[in-house]
Amino acid sequence: MTVDGAESPDVLVVGGGLVGTAVAYGLTREGAKVTVLDEGDGGFRASRGNFGLVWVQGKGYGLSPYARWTRSSADRWPALAAALLEDTGIDVALRQPGGFHLCFSDEELAERDKRLGILKAELGGDYPYQLLDAKELRERLPAIGPEVIGASYTPMDGHVNPLKLLRALHDAMQRRGVTLVGNSQIGRIAPEEGGFAAHGRNGVWRAPRIVLAAGLGNSSLAPQVGLHAPVKPNRGQILVSERVAPFLHHPTINVRQTDEGSVQLGDSMEEVGFNDFTTTDVLSKIARRGVRAFPFLKDVRLVRMWAALRVYSPDSFPIYEQSSQYPGAFVVTCHSGVTLAAAHALRIAPWVVGGAIPDELSAFPGGRFLSPAKILSHA
Ligand SMILES: Cc1cc2nc3c(=O)[nH]c(=O)nc-3n(C[C@H](O)[C@H](O)[C@H](O)COP(=O)(O)OP(=O)(O)OC[C@H]3O[C@@H](n4cnc5c(N)ncnc54)[C@H](O)[C@@H]3O)c2cc1C
Repeated sequence: MTVDGAESPDVLVVGGGLVGTAVAYGLTREGAKVTVLDEGDGGFRASRGNFGLVWVQGKGYGLSPYARWTRSSADRWPALAAALLEDTGIDVALRQPGGFHLCFSDEELAERDKRLGILKAELGGDYPYQLLDAKELRERLPAIGPEVIGASYTPMDGHVNPLKLLRALHDAMQRRGVTLVGNSQIGRIAPEEGGFAAHGRNGVWRAPRIVLAAGLGNSSLAPQVGLHAPVKPNRGQILVSERVAPFLHHPTINVRQTDEGSVQLGDSMEEVGFNDFTTTDVLSKIARRGVRAFPFLKDVRLVRMWAALRVYSPDSFPIYEQSSQYPGAFVVTCHSGVTLAAAHALRIAPWVVGGAIPDELSAFPGGRFLSPAKILSHA
């Protein structure tokens, strides 16, 4: 038990989505005693509605530490998948065969070349990619349509089954001793002697360290412990088809075939506030783009659609920070929680229990969004 007055864990993690559970899983592998406090099924949860890519290509354009961070996670993904399989028996269907970004115009292909070229230069040349014309692409992806004029490809990209991932993380962390408290929305966090008290509907939980991994909930929790996480919702809609025979052995940025055979078509980026409804105008655009990419899809039945809210910071990059005002309080939030799950489990967790901050992370404090005057009062 961790309710008021009872024995405390070493770390409280607020949020049981992909970010919170990946960190909690990593923490328990480090030997920490962890309690995860989650609002429950009624809350917004990007982790239930994403596209499942473990994607490196193009990430970090304009901020190379993000490119390195993303790549470090993709490199660690096989170890995470193997550990989850060993701990739970759940195969999250990780495949990293490389991914394609399909282009429908010469300008788009030129833009890909520019972006990937800059990333390669910033990463000291260690950034493998190819640009393919239509003929070369058709040899790799025979089902491609005539409107696709080429693609960029990197061997660094992959995908997983994201629902199996969420289930595996929940299962694995609990098998390793994490206490998961559901239906527990944390409204107030009070720094106190020796740690933090997290006040929820059904109790108060205490620990010397606390990790804010509450997705969109972080914006109101962070200021209570001297942190800043001005994340906002960004809606994405996705279509899913019936199962079809294998035709696509690589993920592409907008179309992928899952391990179970269905085709996922995604995804939009919309600033519509806390609204996770689907809309026919956006879904028909997504369907049209999918059919332009792979024309045979026009005869394939769609069976599901959904919308979910991304957890988006003002510059789209993650926020990772330990509070300087209240050491022991951390915020961990990002919009690529599938891709970054391995870094969260295997690199963030050791930092939270007292290890050095990973090199790349000094680029991601929440304070970057504060005005200079506020930085002084925040410090
Ligand atoms: C359409 C779409 C496509 C995407 N595609 C990809 C992709 O291909 N690859 C990729 O890497 N990422 C993708 N993402 C992003 C990925 O899904 C998110 O980065 C990830 O799910 C974020 O996880 P999270 O745990 O931070 O947030 P969430 O999943 O939102 O979870 C937050 C959790 O915190 C809980 N919570 C909130 N407030 C409180 C509180 N006060 N107290 C207690 N609990 C609280 C909520 O109930 C929830 O369970 C996509 C997202 C969307 C929407």
